[in-house]
Amino acid sequence: MSPYGVVVCPRCKRAKGVDLKQKTTTCSCGFEIRVTPARVRARAESARELAPLVGRINAEVAGGLKAYEQALAPRKRRRSQDVHARVLAAIPRTGNRSVRVRTAAVELTRELELFTFDDWTRVLAGLGIPDPRTALDALIRTNAVFEPKAGFYRTIGLTA
Ligand SMILES: [Zn+2]
Repeated sequence: MSPYGVVVCPRCKRAKGVDLKQKTTTCSCGFEIRVTPARVRARAESARELAPLVGRINAEVAGGLKAYEQALAPRKRRRSQDVHARVLAAIPRTGNRSVRVRTAAVELTRELELFTFDDWTRVLAGLGIPDPRTALDALIRTNAVFEPKAGFYRTIGLTA
């Protein structure tokens, strides 16, 4: 069994070299880390080998966090672009305008459950249909779309 190891502080996520005979070690942030086999991220035969290992584990933790943050951060923006693109892709390019408008409302409901006037405006702009307010009001008047809470719309069913 290698006598030295690297553990990662659960509080500040910094790696620290330890003598594995110790039961605990105090991180530079003040947190007392319990040294358990599950927590040992790397092992070393000598104290001298610890420093480069600590550096590598720190880079791995930072890389993992960065990848994780990158995976999370742009999702929201990308999601809304994807939604409008998917909705537009589902609507016939040609044909009866009122069918296309109803299909837009159905597809937005399918994607979002509730859509906003902003979603509606973007999709109608993508279809090249002017005056989204009038188009939406017409759907509300004919009970094709309702407004279950202020500013949020959906169709009654999922067929145009
Ligand atoms: Zn710490």
